[in-house]
Amino acid sequence: MFDSIQIALGFNIAAFLICAVNLVYMHIHGYTEKTNNRLFLAMLYILLANAASGIVTSLTYEQRLVSDTVFFANKCSRYIYFVSHTALAPIMYFYVASIIGKSMREDRWGTVRKCYLFIFSELMVLLNPVFGWVWYFNSNREFCRNWGEIFIYFSAAVYVAMSLLFIIFRWKVLAKKRKTTLIACFMMVLVGVLLQLLFKSFKVEVLFEAIGFTGAMMSLENEDDRMNASVGVYNRQALGMDVESAIHNYSNLQMVFVRVINKDVVNRITRSTNIAVTDQTVCEYLKTVVPKYSIYLSNPGNIALMLYHKDEKQTDEIVEQIAERFQRTWKIGDNDILLNAVIMRAELPRMVSSVSDALYMADSPLPEELDKVILEEKDLDYLLRRAAVEAAVSRGLDEGSFEVYYQPTYNIDGSIHGAEALLRMNDKELGKLFPDEFIPVAEYTGLIDEIDDFVLREVCSFIRTGKPEELRMECINVNLSVVQCMKQGFTDHIIDIVETEGVEKSFINFEITESVSASDYKLFSRVVKELKNAGFLFSMDDFGTGYSNIAAIFSLNLDVIKIDKSILWNAEKSEAGKIVLENTVRMMKQMRKKILVEGVETKEQIEILEELGVDYLQGFYFSKPVPLKELVEKLA
Ligand code: C2E
Ligand code: CA
Ligand code: CA
Repeated sequence: MFDSIQIALGFNIAAFLICAVNLVYMHIHGYTEKTNNRLFLAMLYILLANAASGIVTSLTYEQRLVSDTVFFANKCSRYIYFVSHTALAPIMYFYVASIIGKSMREDRWGTVRKCYLFIFSELMVLLNPVFGWVWYFNSNREFCRNWGEIFIYFSAAVYVAMSLLFIIFRWKVLAKKRKTTLIACFMMVLVGVLLQLLFKSFKVEVLFEAIGFTGAMMSLENEDDRMNASVGVYNRQALGMDVESAIHNYSNLQMVFVRVINKDVVNRITRSTNIAVTDQTVCEYLKTVVPKYSIYLSNPGNIALMLYHKDEKQTDEIVEQIAERFQRTWKIGDNDILLNAVIMRAELPRMVSSVSDALYMADSPLPEELDKVILEEKDLDYLLRRAAVEAAVSRGLDEGSFEVYYQPTYNIDGSIHGAEALLRMNDKELGKLFPDEFIPVAEYTGLIDEIDDFVLREVCSFIRTGKPEELRMECINVNLSVVQCMKQGFTDHIIDIVETEGVEKSFINFEITESVSASDYKLFSRVVKELKNAGFLFSMDDFGTGYSNIAAIFSLNLDVIKIDKSILWNAEKSEAGKIVLENTVRMMKQMRKKILVEGVETKEQIEILEELGVDYLQGFYFSKPVPLKELVEKLA
């Protein structure tokens, strides 16, 4: 059988190997830059030193009795063991704090105060050769523990307890994976300590710690799933996680977002199939400005920086520096290319108060006309508002915030012709919202499909009540969104809804804006043809605002042309405007189209339009868009 010395030797060799492998792994993967990386490395080095000194202690155990040199080596190994091991629990505490994030908020003195116990125990150990408070060797060269060791255990226990308290206090904030790993690691360490405390000769503490830390490393230090492998910076998911924890842990943190706007151009110029090439180039540069671990690539061309430990002034400098870099060309492949970038800076949590805010800052579409390169404070209200609207639109259908309003349309003789369905939103947080604001957001997020379906169903159920017919309406107009029309299977989907609702198709008049037809005319004309063949009516909305191929539009055989309100309003403002209106109407009439003019607000406008011979009118003069109930009351 082996004796306890040989067993201890085995345990320590195992611990040594585990630590050595872990250290190699950490260095190869470059997990060496962040505070938590460094603290973890420190713990591994301490354990390595512990294991090494343990090995020496075992190897010199027998011979120390006969050789003074060996005895000295034995004493040294004990000394090194205690000096290094005493630092382990405090470092572990700071490691836990850095993983959880809280310690970063503290000032330097707060940190020093937390070190008192550690400093005291370390001093006792360092001075042990003089005073022998912690351990001593008796005249038989036997190792004896002294009262000081109890103090050292006590100090370690305090740090472990503080770490555990940390975890418990932050329990809700911690991701499940982190919780489990931290707790498992602690259990491992505690079992090791207890075993060694109970069975003095069973020297497993260092081995158990090494195993526990291996688990922590695999899960907490390994960041493969947080990395964008091709660019070597953090990914979108990591951004979400880190913003989440920063919101809980920082009273304020500076964030910077860099958006490369013309990245598509770059790929065309370089003919590169490597779509990451721009991101690689820009991120390589950013790594020279801020630490690698502050950089997140949330989407191609969209980079976020979390500037830990940087105040406003330092952030200003960083932003300036980055903006200046974008004034110069970048070497991408064989080309020197000027990249167009917008840099946004925002403070967390004042401006970025949630993960979705941050992702919005990182990814959302920017206003088309930007006259600035650096956006901050008020400039970002637009984005924050859009983020809020996006959230409102997403919850809107479930919460029933949408309501269809109707604006009646009239024949030129003043009798009722029909009504246009216009959507309104009433959000519990943002209040009343108008379609000009939420429709573009809904189109961007793809929710427009469901929203337009909702409007169509509402209109169908209104028609089914028989009220419109009773009120002598000819049709109800429903707006179609450009993006939606272009989707595969769109016409079948519409026909399916209306047939399921059991409504006469000729009672529905779809409106589509002029600009669509210009951009993707072929597809559009097929959609119109199919819907018209199915029996629906069709109107061209906002005529006169786009630059469409007029001949092509007429070949679509649309039922009504709606002349945009700006044309009517301009006719009152200038002679040129008047000529445009007159000629637009004349052209329509020659083409034998029915004409509706919208935006009618005054009696004078009606007189002009009467003279021109338009067919239908719509506008605030008659009625604003109103809820269904009000429409029915008004017309009855
Ligand atoms: P649109 O189709 O051109 O609708 C006419 C807009 O002009 C409506 O604004 C209406 O309230 C407004 N309007 C009508 N008469 C007058 C007037 O005499 N004076 C003034 N100043 N304005 C007048 P609204 O309801 O805010 O809708 C804005 C746009 O949102 C619509 O323009 C349409 O493109 C879109 N939209 C509205 N509802 C829907 C919907 O259900 N689906 C889709 N896809 N788009 C919708
Ligand atoms: Ca319309
Ligand atoms: Ca219109």
